[in-house]
Amino acid sequence: MSRRLIVNYQKKPCYEIVFAASFAGLGTEISSLNLCAKKVCIVTDTLVGPLYADEVRGILETLGFECLLFCFNAGEQYKNLDTVRHLYRFLIENKLTRKDVLVALGGGVVGDVCGFAAATYLRGIDYIGLPTTLLAQVDSSIGGKTGVDFDDYKNMVGAFFMPRLVYINTKTLDSLPDRQYFNGFAEVMKHGLIKSAAYYEWLLTHMDAICERSPEIVAQMIEKSCAIKKAVVEKDPHETGQRALLNFGHTLGHALETASAYKLLHGEAVALGMVCAAYISWQKGHLAMEEYYEIRDMFVAFDLPISVGNLDAKTVLSYTKSDKKVESDGLKYILLEKVGASFIDKSVTDEEMMAALETILPYSERSDAE
Ligand code: NAD
Repeated sequence: MSRRLIVNYQKKPCYEIVFAASFAGLGTEISSLNLCAKKVCIVTDTLVGPLYADEVRGILETLGFECLLFCFNAGEQYKNLDTVRHLYRFLIENKLTRKDVLVALGGGVVGDVCGFAAATYLRGIDYIGLPTTLLAQVDSSIGGKTGVDFDDYKNMVGAFFMPRLVYINTKTLDSLPDRQYFNGFAEVMKHGLIKSAAYYEWLLTHMDAICERSPEIVAQMIEKSCAIKKAVVEKDPHETGQRALLNFGHTLGHALETASAYKLLHGEAVALGMVCAAYISWQKGHLAMEEYYEIRDMFVAFDLPISVGNLDAKTVLSYTKSDKKVESDGLKYILLEKVGASFIDKSVTDEEMMAALETILPYSERSDAE
């Protein structure tokens, strides 16, 4: 029996997250959904498709589905409406009906694109998540946020749309490069920092095993992170309140990601954003100085960046103005009171963000440098 979590939506059981170490149980899980679909379209990218699409296709065909494959170029640059348009055309040309199903096989980019297409094609068809990056397994595949970037605006077009099933095969992480693994680990750190000091401590205690990617410890870590994300999104599925805590590090993180033209990966940019947010939390008198420095030290130990070159703080700041978290009454910023306790703050100023950005820029690029 696989381990699983049931995610509620609007207080009712909605979908399961299944944790497994292979795709062996996928057929049984899909059968139990009693889908009326005839066709299933696997949506994947050019790196993940060659690794896992054949195995998933074989499972779906054994269940009697006609199986199609839509593969788009890997990378954040392709998380846009053009890719969605190509996908719509593919679905139309292959006559997928409202009863048919999409399967997102890949990282957060595939999940966001596929989920958004599922939310909008024929006003909504079912989709199943098969996340294959650490970031997608602990974070993006859960909670029903789907969408794409629009011009320079990160995640600007999207929909809340729940999957029918999220099947996490942790074995797929074996092929994930280290840089992508630690990129996903940034969101893991975030879960501890915003919600659970005990989980944060657990991460520190298991640092060696996590850095060495021990399968047993990584599997436990994924389940623990999913449980935190599930608890947050269940209480506030449409982000009218506390779900915003999951945006810790994301205001400056998204701005850094866009300003770097996506040379910084999402998690790397969020890690830098979290360092800035922790700094602002300290400067505003919420977080103890020792905790700020401890958090920074831990990021280094877990191979997360705490500084970045070739970026201009003013340009980065300008990108925060197009962030979705800007509301008519100001920017919604997430700050820390202490490790494991976060809150929403609307009083963070441009000057405070500039000061925080200067702590992550190399000395030569700071405005106070000679
Ligand atoms: P990604 O999907 O681009 O995947 C990273 C890279 O790893 C890609 O090149 C991909 O082809 C490759 N890859 C994926 N799985 C692999 C595997 N098993 N083996 C080898 N290579 C593999 O990026 P990501 O980090 O997974 O996700 C980042 C995206 O997620 C961003 O667009 C971000 O905005 C989004 N996101 C969404 C949510 C949400 O709630 N919807 C939450 C957090 C992040």
